Amino acid sequence: MNKKLLLWLFIVITMILPFVLFIFFPYNAIWSLLLIPIVFVVVACQKWGVAISITFLLSVLEYAFTFTYYGFSRTLFVELLIGTIINYSIFFTIVYFKIQYEKLLKKVQKLTVIDPLTGVYNRRYFNLYIEKAIPLGERTGSPFHLILIDIDHFKKINDTYGHMFGDEVLKKVARLIKANVRKSDGVVRLGGEEFAILVSETTTEECQLLAERVRQAIESADFIYEGKKVHVTVSVGLATYKGTSVPKLIEQADQALYQAKANGRNQVVIFSHHY
Ligand code: GH3
Ligand code: MG
Ligand code: MG
Repeated sequence: MNKKLLLWLFIVITMILPFVLFIFFPYNAIWSLLLIPIVFVVVACQKWGVAISITFLLSVLEYAFTFTYYGFSRTLFVELLIGTIINYSIFFTIVYFKIQYEKLLKKVQKLTVIDPLTGVYNRRYFNLYIEKAIPLGERTGSPFHLILIDIDHFKKINDTYGHMFGDEVLKKVARLIKANVRKSDGVVRLGGEEFAILVSETTTEECQLLAERVRQAIESADFIYEGKKVHVTVSVGLATYKGTSVPKLIEQADQALYQAKANGRNQVVIFSHHY
């Protein structure tokens, strides 16, 4: 049986159990038992709304059951109220720390795969993703493409306008790439002034159009230094995964990129065995 099903079975049984017990042993303490599955439910849902609704519903039931059984009295009401406050203080403390922990964990995980300068993914993500994307592409039968993008004469841009302006160019290039791809395509800064786009579920023709669109967007964008337009272009290499290996795919995209540079830069080259 799968783990999730077992967990839900546990939750349902432990939810029902206190009610069954209550019929035979109508003690207030039995309601505290319900806190165990509730903690599980809320931790699984990660939502305060769920926590508050369940606790409210249970408190109403608890009070209704107790007063029906013992009759209403002020002492009983105060006793119940104190019990409720203690139980739910413990419960909300656990849930609060669990939710905070999950949030922090997500943030940290994100930080390890994001490039701090440009906000796109970094090489670590690239390595992790590409290993997973290829088997996925093989299963769905859609080809997987790798686009490598390298800014032309970036060293010269740095030398002429300064490193700070160079950084601004990197940020803008990253933004332009992101603006021209689908949300599902992974945009990566591999290092320095080299970027990659991981494209899945697209035909090779569509991928070529995408690479060309990115190249044109960068060529025609306004990079302004002290009021003057700086001409920034990129060279692009594209390779399609054809059942070889990840290093081979990277090598092929790299060869195509090298060819784009050799052909005079500011162009897209698709990998072929003929050069
Ligand atoms: P090509 O057209 O052949 O690609 O030439 P290029 O000048 O772009 O290539 P090269 O590899 O010679 O230079 C890359 C430069 O990128 C050198 C390095 O100082 C610069 N660089 C690397 N990382 C950063 C960064 O984070 N910020 C800035 N401003 N520059 C960087
Ligand atoms: Mg370069
Ligand atoms: Mg380079």
